[in-house]
Parts: sequence; C-alpha cells; structure tokens
Amino acid sequence: MGFDLIIRNARLPDGRDGMDVACADGRIAAVQHGIDAEAGRIIDAAGRLLSPPFVDAHFHMDSTLSLGQPRLNQSGTLLEGIALWGELKPLLTREAVVQRALRYCDLAVAQGLLAIRSHVDVCDDRLLAVEALLEVRERVKPYLDLQLVAFPQDGYLRSPNAARNLTRALDAGVDVVGGIPHFERTMADGAASVRALCELAAARGLRVDMHCDESDDPLSRHIETLASETVRLGLQGRVAGSHLTSMHSMDNYYVSKLLALMAEAHVHAIANPLINIVLMGRHDTYPKRRGMTRVPELLQAGITVAFGQDCVMDPWYPLGGADMLDVAHMGLHVAQMTGRDAMRACFEAVTTAPARILGLDGYGIDVGCHADLVLLDARDPIEAIRLRAVRIAVVRRGRVIAESAPRCTRLALPGRPGAVEPADYAPREGAPA
Ligand SMILES: [Zn+2]
Repeated sequence: MGFDLIIRNARLPDGRDGMDVACADGRIAAVQHGIDAEAGRIIDAAGRLLSPPFVDAHFHMDSTLSLGQPRLNQSGTLLEGIALWGELKPLLTREAVVQRALRYCDLAVAQGLLAIRSHVDVCDDRLLAVEALLEVRERVKPYLDLQLVAFPQDGYLRSPNAARNLTRALDAGVDVVGGIPHFERTMADGAASVRALCELAAARGLRVDMHCDESDDPLSRHIETLASETVRLGLQGRVAGSHLTSMHSMDNYYVSKLLALMAEAHVHAIANPLINIVLMGRHDTYPKRRGMTRVPELLQAGITVAFGQDCVMDPWYPLGGADMLDVAHMGLHVAQMTGRDAMRACFEAVTTAPARILGLDGYGIDVGCHADLVLLDARDPIEAIRLRAVRIAVVRRGRVIAESAPRCTRLALPGRPGAVEPADYAPREGAPA
C-alpha cells in the first residue's frame, strides 16, 4: 500500500522512540516501527521529536499586530491597554483586521501552531471585528482551526449594548460564550454576568471561556461562581476560566476549597504566562507579585491547565511571535516547574491540554487522527522547550505546509569544532559522568 507521507524514525512526546508515522487521505494510517511501504514523500526524522501541532487556548486576533495604533501603551498596564483598544476600535476597518489576522496565521503555521481559540470583542455596535474574524476563520480553515469567543471587553452588564451584541455575534456563528466578570462595576454584577452568560451557553449548547479574575485582588472570586454555575447547568468539561490571576494572591485555605470545586465541575484553567507576568503586580512596590495562577496546584488537583499566548504586538503586549514554546518556556519559569514531569506538563499545556479545552476532534498521534504534525529539531519535549526548537516540518492533513532549516552556526575558533548545533550540546540522560 502506498501512503501520501511517511515520517521515519521519530520520537513521540510520550517517549516512544524510532517510530514511523504514515499518513493517507489526511489521516494517520499507521504508527509503528519500520513501516515497509512507499509514499509520495518520506521524511527522515533522525530521532527527532514528532508532536501533534501546537494549540493556543487564549488569543486576541482582532487586535494582533496593531502595535502603535493609534499610539503606544506608555504605562504598560492592563487598564491603559483597554483604554487604548477603545481608541483604536472606531478606527478599525474590516479589511485591516482581516489582513493582520491572516498575517498572524501565516506566522502561526510557520511555528507549527495549527489551532487557536481567539476572543473577539463584541462591544463595537458595528461588530466589525466579529465579521472580519468569521471571514478569517473560513479562509484559514484548510490549514488552521480558528475557534472564536464572543468577548464583551467593556463588560457584559457595564457596556450598554454588550448583551445584545453578544447574542448577535453568536447568531452570526461565533463558537464560544465569553465574559469579563472582574471588569463589571461591582462583585454582584460580576457574579450576575457569570450566571447570565452560563445560562446563555447552556441554552445554546455552547462552550464557555471567560476572562476571569484577571487582577491581583485576592477577593476577586468569580471563578467560584463560574464553577458552581457549571455544575448547576450541567456544563462540566465545557467551561474554561482564563487568567485566574487573583488566585495567586488568594488565601491558601480558600484556594484548597476552590480547587476541589473546580475539579468537581471539570472547569479548565488557562494561564497566560507572558501577559500575566508583565501586567500583574503593577500596584505593588516590592515584593512585586507575578500574578500567574497556581499552575502546579491546579494540575495536582486534576484540572486541565493550558498556557495561552493572549497577545502579540498589540495594545497590551509589544512582543511575541506565535511561538507556543516561548509561552511554555515562560510558564515553566514563572511556575517554577523545573522537575522533569513538570517540564513535560508544560509541553502538554501548549499541545494536548488546550486541544482538550477547545474540544478538537481527531487530535493526536494515533491511527485515525488527523494527519496534523510538527517535526521539531529536538529529541524530546523538554529539549524542545529549552531550545524553543526549530519547526523543521509542519504537516496539515498529511501535507507538508511549512519547512524550516535546522539551526546551525559556523564557528571560526582555533582548536574548536567548526559548527554548533544546539541540540548536540545537551548531556544525554543516564550517560556516564
Ligand atoms: Zn485575553
């Protein structure tokens, strides 16, 4: 039997080594040692890591690559970012949003990032960003899964037309119900917004992903309401709390109770390490809190945790580049997750965990899954994070859609080797000292 593509001698994220992966008709047709068959294309992985693609569980594609428009964020704070976005919104055109989003998706594909959940602001009565990203979702469908969240940036109850516009956005085909309870005027309004939005999602059979408790306020506890509404409405497994930064500052006893509730509700957590570490703690002198939610403790409680990118070159964040290994690298450091299992969990936080949160079907390296793969210039997930490894080949539905040359630097030093390839410098695990 002939295949469309065979990748030979790959290591898989679960540690299986020397595996051949064969693809036919857009699906993975075989995963085993030494597949004896022809293929339209054969790639020798030479022992490198072959992973399912990266997935970003939290992004803002309507603002991405708009850095500097109409001005830069001088304070670097979350609130100036929101104000700046408010200045930019009336100036947006559908075409400009579409073009920036398509450029970002090119960058994402180059980095092996083939599924993105993006929030889209519904507080502009024109719903221009919604229309633009619905168009982008269709245009990128052959190579990237874009899931959209109806996000009331200015507050579901606080902004006069937000509730009506959010319903319009869902009617137009936006996939997920968003929210921002900590931005409502009072704690009571925040809780009321969570209830109303969860009821809306339950009535329509949709998933929920709220910006939740994105502050350093230890008493911001909307995640508790989100989890209890999830149980009340039978939404288990379909709800995510994004950011959850207030949990960093909460009382430890309270958190021990909260984690059990979240686990019971099967509520997922999405931390955004790059953004959390620069936006939180802004009212502190020293010690200065770092704000990221309690990732190791959430994992310990059995809760699915993903790392998201959140922003790339927009009113909130001037850096970033669609590189989920960069996100994992930062998350690993901020959460102090340097144990080997913990580092592997950080790789899962940008691959399998967000795939579960988005509800992607056919994700993974098993027979019958979509033939969506990334070949990395690294031997295992830990090395991939350490090196922010080059994506040697990116495969979508069995076809190579992006290729990069491995990193190699020529040295001109007396008595030293002529070339440096970063992966060759790692000590081998278990090798004699
Ligand atoms: Zn966000």
